[in-house]
Amino acid sequence: MTPSLPTPVPPREKRPFLLDFFPLETADQTRLSHFFERLKEGIVSTTRCPKDNLLLWPPRTACPQCHGETLEWVDLPERGHLYAFSAVLGGAPLGMESEVPFAVGLVDLEGAPLRLFGRIEGRPWTELHIGQPVRLESYEIGDGRWFYRFRTEI
Ligand SMILES: [Zn+2]
Repeated sequence: MTPSLPTPVPPREKRPFLLDFFPLETADQTRLSHFFERLKEGIVSTTRCPKDNLLLWPPRTACPQCHGETLEWVDLPERGHLYAFSAVLGGAPLGMESEVPFAVGLVDLEGAPLRLFGRIEGRPWTELHIGQPVRLESYEIGDGRWFYRFRTEI
C-alpha cells in the first residue's frame, strides 16, 4: 500500500460531526431549536427557570438546580462590556484556519447577570481593551446555520 497524501480540510457542510464547532440547530436535532430560530431573527436568547428565578447560560432543556424542564425563553440584552479577551494566533478550530488571527473574549452583558464567551469582531485584537463596549449580534455561518458573536461599538 502506498502512503497517501494528507487530505484537504473538508468543506463545512461535509465535516465529521464531532469536529464541527457549531451545533446542529433544527427542532429534530435539538430541543434548543428556539435559540437558533431567535438567532435568525437577530435576537440572542436563553432559558430561565421561573421556579428558581435562575437565568441559565448557555440555554438548557432542564434547570441544573431543580431539574425541572419547565423553562421559559428570555431575550438577552444586546450591549455589554469586554471583561477579558485573547487572540487566536494559531490552532484554530477546523474551518477557521483562514480567519487567524481573531479575538475571542468574555463579555459582561448590561442588565443581565451573565458573562458570555464569544468571538469579538469589529477591531483587530491589538486594538481591544478591557471594558470596551460591544454588542451581541447573530450571523449566518455559511451553511444555513446561525450563531452569535460580539462586535465592538467603537
Ligand atoms: Zn430550577
